[in-house]
Amino acid sequence: MADFSNALNEDQVQLQSWVHDFAEHVMRPAAHEWDEREETPWPIIEEAAKVGLYSLDFVANMFADPTGISVPLVLEEVAWGDAGLGLAIFGTTLGVAGIFASGTPEQIGEWLPQCFGAPDKIALAAFCVTEPDAGSDVGSMRTRAVYDEASDEWVLNGTKTWITNGGIADVHVVVASVDPELNSRGHASFIVPPGTKGLSQGQKFKKMGIRASHTAEVVLNDVRIPGRLLLGGKDKLDERLARSRQGGTGQRGQAALATFERTRPGVAAQAVGIARAAYEYALDYAKERRQFGRAIIENQAIAFKLADMRMLVDAARLLVWNASWRGASGPGFVAAEGSQSKLFAGETAVKVTDDAIQILGGAGYVRDHPVERWHRDAKIFTIFEGTSEIQRLVIARAVSGVHIQ
Ligand SMILES: Cc1cc2nc3c(=O)[nH]c(=O)nc-3n(C[C@H](O)[C@H](O)[C@H](O)COP(=O)(O)OP(=O)(O)OC[C@H]3O[C@@H](n4cnc5c(N)ncnc54)[C@H](O)[C@@H]3O)c2cc1C
Repeated sequence: MADFSNALNEDQVQLQSWVHDFAEHVMRPAAHEWDEREETPWPIIEEAAKVGLYSLDFVANMFADPTGISVPLVLEEVAWGDAGLGLAIFGTTLGVAGIFASGTPEQIGEWLPQCFGAPDKIALAAFCVTEPDAGSDVGSMRTRAVYDEASDEWVLNGTKTWITNGGIADVHVVVASVDPELNSRGHASFIVPPGTKGLSQGQKFKKMGIRASHTAEVVLNDVRIPGRLLLGGKDKLDERLARSRQGGTGQRGQAALATFERTRPGVAAQAVGIARAAYEYALDYAKERRQFGRAIIENQAIAFKLADMRMLVDAARLLVWNASWRGASGPGFVAAEGSQSKLFAGETAVKVTDDAIQILGGAGYVRDHPVERWHRDAKIFTIFEGTSEIQRLVIARAVSGVHIQ
C-alpha cells in the first residue's frame, strides 16, 4: 500500500462532477452575456442558491474537508465555467473568511448565515481592505475606527476602493485602523450590517476582465455600529494593542500571514480553471483548423505550445493541491507554498490564455470565441489577493529568513 496519493476520494469525485455540471450547463452559456452587460448576474447567483452551490452549508462543507482539496476542486470547476460569474457567486466568501478569521464563535454563528441569505432572498458579503493609497502597503491604511465610549459604538470614516461586491453587499466586513501609530498592528475588523447609515457605494469600476463581478468604492461617512460588531471583541483588541505598544510579539501579523497562505490556493485554483479552459479549447481548435492542407496541430510549433500549456496547468494544480493540503491538515507551510501556488497559477493563466489566442489566430482575437475573454479574466490573478511581486516577496522572505524589501 503506497503512502502517497493524490487520487480523489469518492466524495470529491462526486463534488467535482456536480460543480462541473453547473459550470458547463449554467455558467458557460451565460458567460458571454454577463461579460458584455458588466452587471451583477443575479439570475445566475439565484440559480446557484437554488441548487445549493451558493449557501453557507455548501461553503462550510467545502472548507471542512480535512484533505483541503474540496476548496480548489470547486473553485477550479467554477472558474472553468466562467471566472467573472464565479467571483459573482463566490466573492461573498471573502467577507465570510474575514469574519471567520477574526470573529468570536457567537459572531460567526450570527453573521455567516446573513452573508448568504436564503435562495428566495439572496444576500452578499464584501471584504473591504484596499484604499486609494493603501494597496500592497496595507499598513498605510487611513480608514479610522474610533470608539465612542458613551454610546458603546464604533465610528468608521474612510474610503475603500476596488471592493468586490462593494456597496451592493448586505454585510460589509471593514478593516480599519484603531491606532495609526501601530500601522498594521493597529488594524481591526468590523461588521457593518445591512442598511447602516453612512455606508455608500462610490464609483463602480469598468474593468478589463471578470466583468460579471461587481467592483466598486465603498465610502464610510460617520458610520456608527454597535460595539459588539468589532470582530473578536474589545477585550481581545485592547490586550493586543497593549502588547503591540510595548513592542510586542507581532503575533497578529503572523496570524494574518498564515491566513493569506491558506486562502491564496483558493484564488490560485480559479486561475487553474481559466488556464484549463483555454488549453482545452485551443487543443480542440488545433485539431479542427486546417491550413496548408493539414490540421494546424500537426505543426510542432502548435503541438509543442499545447504540450507546454498542459504541463503548466498540471504543475499549477499540483502546487495548489499541495498548498491546500498543507493549510488544511498537512504539515503547514515552510516555503510560503500558498503564495507559490497563487504566483504560479496566476502567471500560468495569463500565459496559457495568451498562447490559446495565438493558436486560434484571428479567431482568438474576436469575441465569437471565449479565449480573448479568458485572457482578460486571467490578468486579475496576478494582481488581486497580493500581486505577483508581493507573492515573490513573501516567498523570498520565507525561504531566506531575510526581511527583503
Ligand atoms: C477586480 C478587483 C477586485 C478586488 N477586490 C478586492 C476586495 O474585494 N477587497 C479588497 O480589499 N481589495 C480588493 N482589490 C484590491 C487588490 O487587492 C489590490 O489591487 C492589490 O492588493 C494591489 O494593490 P494596488 O492595486 O494598490 O497596487 P500597488 O500596491 O499600488 O502596486 C502597484 C505595483 O507596484 C508593485 N509593488 C508594490 N509594492 C511593492 C514592493 N514592496 N516590491 C515590489 N513591487 C511592489 C505591485 O506589485 C504592482 O505591480 C481588488 C482589485 C481589483 C482590481
